[in-house]
Amino acid sequence: MISFNIAPFIGNEFDYIKKAINDKKICGDGQFTYKCNNWFEEKFRIKKALLTTSCTHALEMCAILANIKVGDEVIAPSFTFVSTVNAFVLRGAKIKFIDIRPDTMNMDEDLIESAITPRTKAIIVVHYAGVACEMDTIMAISRKHNLLVIEDAAQGVMSSYKGRALGSIAEMAAFSFHETKNYSMGEGGAILLNNKSFIERAEIIREKGTDRSKFFRDQVDKYSWVDLGSSYLPSEINAAYLWAQLEMAKEINNNRLANWYLYNDGLQDLAKAGQLELPFVPKECQHNGHIFYIKAKDLATRTKLIKFLKYHEISAVFHYVPLHSAKAGKLYGEFVGLDKFTTAHSERLLRLPLYYGLEPDEVTTVIHVIKKFFGYT
Ligand SMILES: *Cc1c(COP(=O)(O)O)cnc(C)c1O
Repeated sequence: MISFNIAPFIGNEFDYIKKAINDKKICGDGQFTYKCNNWFEEKFRIKKALLTTSCTHALEMCAILANIKVGDEVIAPSFTFVSTVNAFVLRGAKIKFIDIRPDTMNMDEDLIESAITPRTKAIIVVHYAGVACEMDTIMAISRKHNLLVIEDAAQGVMSSYKGRALGSIAEMAAFSFHETKNYSMGEGGAILLNNKSFIERAEIIREKGTDRSKFFRDQVDKYSWVDLGSSYLPSEINAAYLWAQLEMAKEINNNRLANWYLYNDGLQDLAKAGQLELPFVPKECQHNGHIFYIKAKDLATRTKLIKFLKYHEISAVFHYVPLHSAKAGKLYGEFVGLDKFTTAHSERLLRLPLYYGLEPDEVTTVIHVIKKFFGYT
């Protein structure tokens, strides 16, 4: 059986978790959380990184920091995970979904302006598969219309756009360390702040709305409730797991990329023959091998291919059901313009097994079975 995903595990996780326990500091903001925060800040040139309990929670923090209120609008792609928009709906925003580009499956930057109204507050970009959105264009639009940009960089750790790390480009961003992502802590994430004016408030929101972080730095002599907030601080046990992975970030990244290119090379013939489409990576984007997807001719072919792969003990999965077509999506948002690509391309997309430690032999097997399906063996 070739699994679709196996949670990343390096080996040092046990030692670091043991250290956290031995040092009698297992709640949040201990040595491992600081190590992780500093690593992101230095490696990715981010003003402030704070580990959170999930990417979903980091996005909720962004929505509070952005002062999203009832009646505000945010612009987002419909082809994404629910958390991208749920965080803003929770604050009362209406979501204006726009279509994607069929080449990268990212938000079509040329459609953003058509969705802007006097109520628009923010643009939420999603770097699908760790391939960057067209950020220069998007940031220019945001400056012209005085809007905030928030990067959902859940899939973008170690990816870059014109040499700049994803998560370091917009005012705020979020990473995910869920077990399906490139680096994991079980459940967890990080909020990334590139504008100093948000840092103090972010620390407060993350600490249940109190100025406890200042208290621990001896900047105030007691701490109290000063703002909105919740419990967004992860345990040191989870941070210890993540630290082991960040120390090996390069190895993990190289391993994923090697398998990604094996798929890409191995499936070229089928792509040239017009049987399927392969991912496109613009030249200004360095990606991180987060997802390898193919696009079948149509939904029926994809369904048959999934069954065929399953029969050959290979687990391949699809996503996302476009948010604007979902029950909650209709309640809390609306699609602006034509859905030319979101539905049609999401129905064709299939993700192949890809995780740290997947063997090249296994990739070869998957390629072979796909070729067999199309009668090319
Ligand atoms: C995984 C993912 C999330 C949610 O991450 P969690 O850490 O599980 O909350 C949000 N957005 C995108 C694009 C994702 O891929």
